[in-house]
Amino acid sequence: MILSKKAKQISPSLTLDITAKAKKMKADGIDVIGFGAGEPDFNTPKNIQDAAIKAIQEGKTKYTASSGIIELKEAIIKKFKNENNLNYIPSQIVVSTGAKQCLANVFQAILNPGDEVLIGVPYWVSYPELVKLADGEPVYVETEEIHEFKLTIGSLNKAVTSKSKVIVLNSPNNPTGTVYTKEELIEIANFAKTNNLIIISDEIYEKLLYGNNGHISIASLSEDAYNRTIVINGVSKAYAMTGWRIGYAAGSTEIVALMTNIQSHSTSNPNSIAQYASVEALNGQQEDVTKMVQQFKYRRDYMVERINSINNLSCMKPEGAFYVMVNISNILNKSYHGQVIKNSMEFSDLLLKSEKVAVIPGIAFGVDNFVRLSYATSMENIKNGLDRIARFVEEI
Ligand code: PMP
Repeated sequence: MILSKKAKQISPSLTLDITAKAKKMKADGIDVIGFGAGEPDFNTPKNIQDAAIKAIQEGKTKYTASSGIIELKEAIIKKFKNENNLNYIPSQIVVSTGAKQCLANVFQAILNPGDEVLIGVPYWVSYPELVKLADGEPVYVETEEIHEFKLTIGSLNKAVTSKSKVIVLNSPNNPTGTVYTKEELIEIANFAKTNNLIIISDEIYEKLLYGNNGHISIASLSEDAYNRTIVINGVSKAYAMTGWRIGYAAGSTEIVALMTNIQSHSTSNPNSIAQYASVEALNGQQEDVTKMVQQFKYRRDYMVERINSINNLSCMKPEGAFYVMVNISNILNKSYHGQVIKNSMEFSDLLLKSEKVAVIPGIAFGVDNFVRLSYATSMENIKNGLDRIARFVEEI
């Protein structure tokens, strides 16, 4: 029997593969240090937990409107206005089961077979697969580490064709931690205007910023940018709520209506209890977010300094999210105890086997001379893990 050709061309997640191996080793009693985490290691703040418990006790346990409860849409609208200088009405907002579902919905809502989507490399693993699932074609745009892995107009001009329909922007970025400046965002907005592209701006790491500048949404830069942008955001990363599965999208009523229709026939509303908890996340105290960000910044500083002190490893200092891309170019094609390391997968496999440290091979994000380390883990783990990495690299 021929199963779905579309499903068959979807790559299995490489990030899950190495984390599954690390998990298995841990379950077998081996002392593994994991740098793979894509989520905060903190628990969800107490006020949010309490709001969820209250929602259950008050019977807010039924279906809601497919696109989300009005209380949450109002909280989202208030957040966009106060923090991003963006004005939306409720019909421009759709709440989904995580930012990931927002992205799945939006690609399905806007793409026709053959439409091209510009995606910077390195990219978050799911963008290309979500585009393919929606019959689109991912088109990869090269970036360089010396330019902080940023999309430049030069590289975008090389990639754009008459079939280009969408550009994906992710600032702060996973996996690089890169944050775009206002000037750079203006250039990208102008590029989108010139080429009549829809901008999908994934701002899920908005709160996790360590520089002096606040977050800027590309949609806020001009009326044209506002009209052509779908903003994707959610509570997962900012409020340590990855398991609750609430994300949201904002954009034109026309696209949001299509996204809502798609969602209404696939999953219906996102979890009702998690929606009420998210109202509290957005409207309630924000001190826990500030504390988390302070912790992440402290860990980032330590990690970056330590990596750059290890011979043959280097990394740039990321301004946001909780990842560091470690450049392993100087190690490739050298050997560890007689075994030649040819690529990021082999580096990660050997490191896991020999020193019991799990990192994500860069090939998962489209770059084979890097590995990604997450600092969403304790300082103790970070210190211990980097000691092990230093020992591993010394023997190469
Ligand atoms: N976008 C990016 C860039 C991410 O890193 C993630 C989570 N790893 C998501 C979207 C999805 O977030 P959520 O958990 O809200 O679905």
